[in-house]
Parts: sequence; C-alpha cells; structure tokens
Amino acid sequence: MFASLAAVTDERLGRVIVGSEALAQRVRDLGAQITVDYRDRSPLLVGVLKGAFMFMSDLARSIDLPVEFDFMAVSSYGSATRSSGVVRILKDLDLDIGGRHVLLVEDIVDSGLTLGYVRRNLLARRPASLEVCALLVKDGLQRDDPQIRYVGFRIPPVFVVGYGLDVEERYRNLEDVVEYREGA
Ligand code: 5GP
Repeated sequence: MFASLAAVTDERLGRVIVGSEALAQRVRDLGAQITVDYRDRSPLLVGVLKGAFMFMSDLARSIDLPVEFDFMAVSSYGSATRSSGVVRILKDLDLDIGGRHVLLVEDIVDSGLTLGYVRRNLLARRPASLEVCALLVKDGLQRDDPQIRYVGFRIPPVFVVGYGLDVEERYRNLEDVVEYREGA
C-alpha cells in the first residue's frame, strides 16, 4: 500500500511506535466510549488542525451519535520539534460554541502547553461542557493530567510522525505512528 512504511525509504524514520491496526482498534474503542458517555447529546467535535484531521475523521465514524464538526488551527512558536507554549490562532472556529458540548480532538500532547492554551480559549466562550480527546500523550510532565478525558496511547517522549502528524508538512499520510530521528 502506498502510505505504508515499507514503501518509504527514509533513514529519518525509526521504529513504529503505534501500528495502524492498534490505531484502528483504539480509535474504535474511543468512539464506542464517547458514544456511551454522550448518549442523548450531540457533541461538537473541535479538531485542532492540521495534525488531528486523520484521527478526527476516523474517530467521528466510530461515534454512533449525531455529531457536528468545527476546526481551529493554531501554531506553537518554537523549533521544528519542540513547542514553546506561545500559541497563535491561525484559524478560529466557525461556530459559536456557547452552550454546546464540545469535545476537543487533539493529535498529540507533549508539554501540554498548546492544549492548555486552547482549553482556556474555548472555556472563555462558555460551552456547556468541554472534554479533551488526545490520540497520543507523551510520557512526561502531564502524566496524570485529569484534563484529558480520553487518551489513545501513552508513548515515550520521542518525536513522531504519521497518521496526520508531520515534519514540515511531510509524512502525514503514513499509516503508522513512527519515530522521527532529527538529523539522521
Ligand atoms: P505541546 O504544546 O504539548 O508541547 O506540543 C503540542 C503540539 O506540538 C502538538 O499539537 C503538535 O503540533 C506538536 N508536537 C508535539 N510533539 C510532537 C511530535 O512528536 N510529532 C509531531 N509531528 N508534532 C508534535
């Protein structure tokens, strides 16, 4: 298959951290859990672009409820592989989230600085509820962060690409989440 790791010869790609089958299974389980937790409600999924687009698409199809969608894009200042916590909104939401049950869908949480900023920003708009679903959480500072209700996988603190995650816009279409070795 085109986007499989075997088809990519790139020495910067290291080991597979989460394979496509494990991703698919876990996303289905998260969707089932969200379906139970939000029964009788119509959650508004808010995806953080661009990294969460693939996860959000698969997750939404595993939720057996009438969901709605919106997106925001943020940029964290910092180096290519480390955020500084200074966040800028590049694209704001289209919808008014006041009174809505918002489920924020994030690709990956490292220091938690980006997530913290986005949460505060959304809470200021007075949603009825706000929960976070993060596909990947790196082991580290935010280990038992109660603010992340749904966690796909805890992964070691390595830089990863694939399944929506990039380096300078590349690798997003890899099926697996793969370690990226800077400077290799
Ligand atoms: P934090 O603010 O939690 O340190 O970083 C969160 C943001 O940094 C993520 O939304 C993502 O854009 C980026 N990021 C953090 N770790 C990784 C990683 O391992 N791979 C990629 N591609 N982006 C990451």
